[in-house]
Amino acid sequence: MTNIAVVNQIIPFSCVDGPGSRLVIFMQGCNYRCKNCHNPHTIGLCDSCGDCLPSCPTQALSLITSNNKPQVIWNEALCTQCDLCLTVCPKQSSPKTQRYSVEQLLTLIRQQLQFLNGITISGGEASLQLPFIIKLFSAIKADKELAHLTCMLDSNGSLSNSGWQQLLPVLDGAMIDLKSWLQDTHRYITGRDNHRVIDSIEFLASQGKLYEVRLLHIPGVSDFDSEVTAVASQLQALPKKVRIKLNAFQHHGVTGAALNWPICSEAQIKQLATELCQRGVHNIVLPNSYL
Ligand code: SF4
Ligand code: SF4
Repeated sequence: MTNIAVVNQIIPFSCVDGPGSRLVIFMQGCNYRCKNCHNPHTIGLCDSCGDCLPSCPTQALSLITSNNKPQVIWNEALCTQCDLCLTVCPKQSSPKTQRYSVEQLLTLIRQQLQFLNGITISGGEASLQLPFIIKLFSAIKADKELAHLTCMLDSNGSLSNSGWQQLLPVLDGAMIDLKSWLQDTHRYITGRDNHRVIDSIEFLASQGKLYEVRLLHIPGVSDFDSEVTAVASQLQALPKKVRIKLNAFQHHGVTGAALNWPICSEAQIKQLATELCQRGVHNIVLPNSYL
């Protein structure tokens, strides 16, 4: 559905999702199954099964029939944001996802315009809704009032080279997650290998569109410390302006086996930063918090 996006959440102002003050649109749906996902309810698409209805203590959820199909309806006015519905959903989805047209998002952006430097599309995995994103970014670039806003994508890097090429004319920059180095580790954490991620990083860098590479350090699980020489060799070859953002794994929002993984301390992040720096990686950015 090129004209409609399935959106998990919109944050009107963020200063950690790209440069300056940004409106961030979190798309619903992901093609990875990261064990450490801190927003697991952004992974699946709601099929209006109705299983979450009884969990809602304020009767904010109901089921209607539309075009002979069931459709879950979320009444925002009754919702207390307790998130009980998210915990029972068997599809790792949310009954609170909403559908937006390009025009509706442009209206939202115009309402916040005086406070914004740009727009970031995140997820879930944003690039799964690529045709919509191209339409939205094209509309922003074509609008005299909005054209100064930078348009950025926050991605797991799984988009194909041809996908990036379609997006490139309207993309100002991308933030790419590199979740681990070795294929086995990446498959263990995400369910997929990381060839596409490395390809995306190299391609975006070659086009001057790579803003940031993000590494989530999970001591003893992600392998950035044990494979630091190989990781550094990849990262130090990137243009100097590319930010290497280190994040420290915490348990916030995490479910399942990853709750047994150790959290990452400030000392462990600083150790990784030092080792990368000693191997020629610059422009390292440390976490904003360790909570
Ligand atoms: S959010 Fe999950 S449980 Fe609720 S209707 Fe959708 S798929 Fe079913
Ligand atoms: S988050 Fe809202 S819709 Fe979900 S269970 Fe709580 S009150 Fe109901």
